[in-house]
Order: sequence, then C-alpha cells, then structure tokens
Amino acid sequence: MTTRPKPTLNLRSLILIFVLFSAVATLANSFWVMFKIQKQELIENALDANQAYAARIARSVEQVLNADLDKLKYGSAGIGKTFGDNSALTREAKRLVEQDASFNSVLVADANGTIVASAPESLQLNGRTLQHKEPLSLRTAKISNAFRSITGNLVVFISHPIFDVKGQYLGLIGGTIRLEQSNTLQALMDTNVRKDGAHFYLIDGARRVLYHNYPEQIGSVRGADLIADASLKEAAGTLQAVDEHGVEMLAGFAQVPSSGWGVISQQPLENIQAVLRRTMIKIAQGIAPLGLFGIILIWWLGTRISAPLSRLADCAKRLDTPDSYARISAVPARYFESWQIRRALLLGATLLQEKIGKLNQQAHTDTLTGLANRRAMQDVLSLWQEAGKAFAVVSIDIDHFKRVNDTFGHGVGDETLRAVAQLMQQNSRANDLPCRVGGEEFVLLLPGSSLHTAADVAQRLRALIEAASIETVGHVTVSLGVALWRADGESISAVLERADQLLYQAKQGGRNRVVVEPVPD
Ligand code: GH3
Ligand code: MG
Ligand code: MG
Repeated sequence: MTTRPKPTLNLRSLILIFVLFSAVATLANSFWVMFKIQKQELIENALDANQAYAARIARSVEQVLNADLDKLKYGSAGIGKTFGDNSALTREAKRLVEQDASFNSVLVADANGTIVASAPESLQLNGRTLQHKEPLSLRTAKISNAFRSITGNLVVFISHPIFDVKGQYLGLIGGTIRLEQSNTLQALMDTNVRKDGAHFYLIDGARRVLYHNYPEQIGSVRGADLIADASLKEAAGTLQAVDEHGVEMLAGFAQVPSSGWGVISQQPLENIQAVLRRTMIKIAQGIAPLGLFGIILIWWLGTRISAPLSRLADCAKRLDTPDSYARISAVPARYFESWQIRRALLLGATLLQEKIGKLNQQAHTDTLTGLANRRAMQDVLSLWQEAGKAFAVVSIDIDHFKRVNDTFGHGVGDETLRAVAQLMQQNSRANDLPCRVGGEEFVLLLPGSSLHTAADVAQRLRALIEAASIETVGHVTVSLGVALWRADGESISAVLERADQLLYQAKQGGRNRVVVEPVPD
C-alpha cells in the first residue's frame, strides 16, 4: 500500500480561504460593476447637462441677435425714405447707438460701400469704405464673423439692407458689437456662469472665440478641435473628445441659427472622475461594515460546520481508548454528513472495543478450564490493592494428582481439572473470582470477605469436591490454604505466599483439609 503524505490543510482553513476568496471576489466584482455604471451615468448626465446648457445659451444669443436685427430693420425702413439727407441718417445712427447697449457703433453705407453716416462721431468713419462688402452683394440682413474693425477693435457687424419705396437697393445700415468690451451678449452670458466646473464659449463660423468664461480667450481662433467643428456643423449634440489642449472633454453644443455661430459647454472628464472617486469612496465606506459583518458571519458558520468534523477527526485518532465511545457521542451532529460520520465512528469504536475486549479476555482466560488465569488474577488483585478493597485468598491444590495422570492418562487428568474448575465456579458468588494459576493449582479470590467467611467458603468447596463424582476418576480431594490480605499496604505476592504456606500445611496435615491463618490481633 502506498502511503500518501498527510494533508496540511484542514477543513476550517479551506472554508476560511473559500469564504474570504468568494467574499472578496463578489465585493470586488460588484464594486467594479457599480463603478462602471456610475461612471457611465455621470458622463451621460454631464453630456446632457452641457447640451441643455449650450442650447439655452444659443437660444438667448439668437434672441439678442434677432432683437438687434429688428432694431436695424426698423431704422432701415425709416431712412429708406430720407436716404439723401445725411444729417437724418446720422441722427438715426446716433439714436440706435444711444437707445440701449446693443451696438457700440452704427453706420450707414451706400450701395458702393461708402460710409455716409455714423455714430458715435468720434470714430470718424464717414467717407471710409466698408471692410466687408459681402452684405452689399447679398442685399440681405447679415451677421458677420468677428473681424478687426478700421479702428482696431474686434467686432461683429450686424447689418440690414436699405431699400427705397420702390424697392431700389440703397445700401445698408449696420451696428457693431465690440467683443472685447462690455456688450449685451457678454452681459447675457456672464449671468450664466456655471458653478459645477463646466465652462462655455461662443465661436463664430471661422472658429474665432466671441465669448469665453475665461475672457483672455476672446478673439483667439480655436485650433484643431473636434468639438468646435461639430458645433459649427450640427444644430445640436454631445461629444466626448480631446480638445485643442489635449484635455479630454465632455461637451454639449448648439448652433445659433441666425448667425451660424456655435455655443459649446464643456467640462474635463477628470472632473467627473474626481466626483466618481469621492462617490466610490463613500460607497466603499458604506459597504465595508456590512461586508466585514458578512465575512465574520460566514466565517463563524464555516467554523460551526467544520467543528464537528474536526472533533470527529480528532476522535478517530484515538478509537482504541476506552472513552472513545463517550467522546464521539458528545460531538454534536447538526447536519447529515457529520451525523453519518459520527454513526460510522461509533460503530467502528464499538467493534474495536469488542475486539480489544475479546483479546483481553483471551489473554486473561485459562484455555483449559475457562477460569481466569494467573495474569488476570494479578491484574484484579492490583486493582483491589490500589482501591484498598479488602479480599481473602484461598489457595487450592489437588491431592495426589500425579496419580490421576499416571493411572488414567493426561486426557482424563485434564477432564478432572475442568471438573474441579466447574465445581469452583458453581460454589462462587458473582463477585468471587476462581482462577487456575498453575498445573493443578487454583486460587479463589473473595472480595470484601472476612477470614471467617473465606474459611466457610473453603470448607464448603473442599466438601463439594470431595463429594463430587468425577467421570472415570471417581473422587478427588483438595487441600486449601486461606489468608486475608492486610489492608496496611501488604504486597500481593506476600498474601499469595502466605496462602501457599497454609496450603502446604494442609498437605502436611494429611491433605483434604483447610488451613486458615490465625485471626490477626
Ligand atoms: P500433592 O498431593 O502433594 O499435591 O501430590 P501431587 O501428585 O498432586 O503432586 P504435585 O502437585 O507436585 O503434582 C502435580 C502434577 O500435576 C504434575 C503433573 O503431572 C500434573 N499436571 C500439571 N499440569 C497438568 C495439566 O495441565 N494436565 C494434567 N493432566 N496434569 C497436569
Ligand atoms: Mg501441585
Ligand atoms: Mg497436587
């Protein structure tokens, strides 16, 4: 049989490892899923919020531009009738500049692009030529991209054509909005500064920044930027992309219909990740106590499951000890497998004990007569001596046994020994112990007996044997010596010796008799 090495892992450790592994794996997995969902949610929310925001700004800008166009339209209708009168044109230009903060300057140009009237006068624009002639050829209302004006200011130019009563094109009236100065657009957008780390900006069709939460950006032209591109191409949308500075942004955008400008509201992805980190830390803190409690609970359960098995395993190591049955019975078996193993162990222990008992019995029994042998007698006497239990010893020897053997043969001699043994057994009480200690020598142990009682028993036995008729042999007699163990610590061999001496005296005295030691003082 090959021997396998003894496993070092026990069930408890296995359960603990399994529990810890599965708990950590489950927690890590749910945490990861939660992280992914949370991140996606935050990104989608940020994109949607940015888009809604950009759309709102675009609507407001559209309203402002439409209002500005309306003012110019109203003005153009008036001056269409008095186009030759430069002072009237100047008055109208002045009125438009002064009526509100819409325009920083207003000018009237003829069909050739020559400025015929303007306000404020300090700009001295009269007589100059328009920089951008496109509106003249289009002959429609037009909102320009940003450009540097004659006076060096960054402006957008909003213009409306002028027709006379017959529908003849006369020129245009236009207002400028200076982007680097306070203006209605800027005022509108400054009231919409966001507090959540997002920022927004407005670009014209040439990607020039018309407004930005960071004013130093105004006038700059956006470089390669997918988000800016998208805002000029599509009416509205969202985009997660890297901006021109290499920062990954979550953006929403919307177009201003009348000007084709784009409004972009965006925030760095990193902002979301910072929020996410804080959220996940909070979730982890929320889960930790419950998770820990769960692990402790499962561990405790694991210990409860493994405890009976490890106790049974411990019992299995010592099945041969007399108390093994009691120890196995004491192990609680709360589930089927432990119950089954306990039952098997109890059965094993019982069988083993029976076997041991049988072996002990064999070792302690005289095979010829079935009486206890010398060894059994010694063991019993040691126990009594240890327990301080009083006893008497009757030493017995068959008289002239040699003759029986010589006359009838050894077999008959054995039968005679058996017959004497049987008589001894018949004459004994339950607690008495008849033993065969040599060839035809017997001892009868009488626990708790007085010398007097022992003498009576010996006498009765002698008479019984003498009276008994033994097959083939007829009658045999025995000689007996009776001694009482002295409870003062006398050795066993000493009391047996005395009994033998008394027996010898009985032989000397003529056999078939009992010699009792004198009653001690
Ligand atoms: P005494 O009255 O002096 O005791 O005479 P005895 O002949 O009995 O003498 P002793 O006790 O010395 O003799 C013992 C004899 O018992 C010797 C031996 O042949 C016989 N014997 C011993 N053991 C056995 C046995 O197991 N079976 C048989 N059949 N005989 C045995
Ligand atoms: Mg003898
Ligand atoms: Mg004899």
